[in-house]
Amino acid sequence: MICREISCKSALSMSGLPGLDYTLNPYMGCGHACIYCYAPSTLRYAGPDAWGSFVNVKADIPRVLEKEVRTKKRGVVGISTVTDPYQPVEEKYRLTRSCLKVLLAKDLPICVQTKSALVVRDIDLLREFKDKEVGFTVTTLDERMSGIMEPGASKPAARLDALKTLSDNGIATWAFVGPMVPGIIDKERLEELLARVQEAGASHVMLDRLRLKPGLWGRMEPILMEKAPDIAEACKRALFKNDGTFEALRSDAARICLELKLPCELNY
Ligand code: SF4
Repeated sequence: MICREISCKSALSMSGLPGLDYTLNPYMGCGHACIYCYAPSTLRYAGPDAWGSFVNVKADIPRVLEKEVRTKKRGVVGISTVTDPYQPVEEKYRLTRSCLKVLLAKDLPICVQTKSALVVRDIDLLREFKDKEVGFTVTTLDERMSGIMEPGASKPAARLDALKTLSDNGIATWAFVGPMVPGIIDKERLEELLARVQEAGASHVMLDRLRLKPGLWGRMEPILMEKAPDIAEACKRALFKNDGTFEALRSDAARICLELKLPCELNY
């Protein structure tokens, strides 16, 4: 992993995402290295290093944030949107933790989203916010597939344990099930996954399908063809031949959530 310390001009960016007024990304790049990551297309990343192989560490972001919160209008801060705030380098740099301290001093509302159990480290700070929520992305319960798709992230079971720990400590939690990848998720697996996140304490779920973002399939296909060719074929049928997989997953998800009485938002 290439790790570079950089300085940043700003800490908070205006957000166009529902429910978020600002976004805060302490890192550029992400060591979780998910093969389906949409961040490169969102950022129009065209740098020399492969996505997932580098992290730019915004070493001065807590100081920049401290200045900004003095003048910015109060609003919900999303942590993070194009990186994972609890990716492995956070253990060393603790930038997310330092930023949380700055936000806590103003008691700004926060919405954290992660695939890492490291978030539990900051439970002491998270508990102190009046208005906070933590979302965990869980795309599969299958450790092998998670290892292929999200090689640097916490194992699914560790994410569920972290979700439960946070819920048990009075922190509002939810789950994002996405992207749903054909061949990895189906009706039965979705039933188990949704039941498990609900059991762990998620108050609601959001679900989305795999989408074709610029450059995405070019990154995914060679990895899937080498490590899980059956999944690559299932994705191709769904993405390029409209074989109905996404529609079936959508109606399965709606029915399962209804049966579980689990509030859900289907993003397609
Ligand atoms: S955790 Fe999020 S930002 Fe990081 S690589 Fe995965 S999808 Fe991208």
